[in-house]
Amino acid sequence: MNNGGYVYLVGAGPGDLQLMTLKARRCVEMADVVLYDRLVNPLLLEWTKPDCEHIYCGKLPKRHLLRQEAINEKLVQYGTEGKIVVRLKGGDPSVFGRVGEEAHALDEAGVPYEIVPGITAGIGAATYAGIPVTHRNHSASFTVVTGHDKSEKGEPLIDWQALARGSDTIAFYMGVKNLGYIANQLTLHGKPKETPVILIQWGTLGSQKTVSGTLETIAEEVSKSNLTNPAITLVGDVANIRKEPSWFERKPLFGQHILLGRTSGSQGAIAHELEELGAEVFEFPRMYSRTAEKPQADFRDFDQIVFLSPESVEIFFNWLRADKVDLRDIRAAFHVRSKKSERALEKYGCFTSELSKVKDGCSKVLLLGNAHSANDKILLTDTWGPHEYVITHHDLVVSSTDVTCERLKDEGRIQTIVFPSAQSVQTVSDRFMKMGWSIEEINETVKVICFGSMSEKAALSAGYKVDVVLESPTKEALIKALIQSNITEVVK
Ligand code: SAH
Repeated sequence: MNNGGYVYLVGAGPGDLQLMTLKARRCVEMADVVLYDRLVNPLLLEWTKPDCEHIYCGKLPKRHLLRQEAINEKLVQYGTEGKIVVRLKGGDPSVFGRVGEEAHALDEAGVPYEIVPGITAGIGAATYAGIPVTHRNHSASFTVVTGHDKSEKGEPLIDWQALARGSDTIAFYMGVKNLGYIANQLTLHGKPKETPVILIQWGTLGSQKTVSGTLETIAEEVSKSNLTNPAITLVGDVANIRKEPSWFERKPLFGQHILLGRTSGSQGAIAHELEELGAEVFEFPRMYSRTAEKPQADFRDFDQIVFLSPESVEIFFNWLRADKVDLRDIRAAFHVRSKKSERALEKYGCFTSELSKVKDGCSKVLLLGNAHSANDKILLTDTWGPHEYVITHHDLVVSSTDVTCERLKDEGRIQTIVFPSAQSVQTVSDRFMKMGWSIEEINETVKVICFGSMSEKAALSAGYKVDVVLESPTKEALIKALIQSNITEVVK
């Protein structure tokens, strides 16, 4: 069989998207179908092709989880159909990830596959909590152990004596429920009851939480804190190395979950910068641009050309190339309305002219933009004067973006909504409505930040309560406002 069908069994890392390997990311981008677990960060589904099928294999409140046999069957079925299938697992697929069973099923069925390792939670979560799993002065060995097994009580059958004596650092996975039992067994078999223990929940994510203690105290500490799975239990002297808070928890926007409204397919530099400062950013809704049909218009006829978006710039130059029109034959002055479009033009060695020259009344003006903006006839004429409008592209929403949004909301990962423009208020609210969410419900749990008075007006009339309007519509002002809100939250 060689119909192109191929399965990738991929480790998605412990949570932070940036901890995925380059190979894992490439797999996600290529996939026709993605099957993913509960512990896989739903944000990475935003990297898939717009028409990629997403299959959730974890438990949802009203749905049963997909059983392992059913997952194996699906992998074989899609692989046999000739699809590129990506099976995404949290952490590393070989560490309590059942990858062996899936690989076996694919071998049996003769479906080609490969396995892509990932950073396992025991190492990733420990590192983000400021703990190295080995250390020349404190730990010469590191063991990965399940805290739960298939037995009736779920208490793992382990050679406790060998573990207690033979390993300096132990990472227990899935161990929160059996914590008392685990701590007891280790103490009974020779680990000192003062041995430090730390639990790290949702490691490497904005929701990361830790609880520390010793083998003697940890079960009680954890039950007081209500900390639950997913968490790694790390036992060993290395746990004492942690500085509270850790390097990760000290980032200025650590713990902030931001939904950044967007209105086109291009990705913003703002998101990247907020992430660097420790925030989790969901650019919503995910969109992609579909180029419109090439128009009959001859671009050489115009005196002024206005690019309403960076996509329009790219498409304009593609069309020139397709028609073999030399750029030097275009006499029009170029105008833009955003920095992004300006940068796109500069890539082609073109610079913009002063805006005042557009509305001189006698020159032929052409506006290039998406299908949506074409509807704002009055506003456009107001701004640019009499003009012709050519639609360069359609900005379309990728419908699976709603699934990501719902998952994040369920997990409390939408705390602040940022509206950079009035149009983003409409685009985002349209999706909320499609998902059946009311703005009142959003107002109860979410803080709204608007870039300026236009977006504020749009947000207020859509029913949002606006908490912050930025001093200036810039990235710097946004960062300042977000840091400010982090400080106020801590003070509260
Ligand atoms: N294959 C995964 C482990 C799957 S078993 C890996 O290599 O990491 C599921 C367990 O992994 C959870 O119960 C929890 O103990 C641990 N886990 C996964 N992600 C985690 C995270 N972000 N923080 C803490 N523990 C995590």
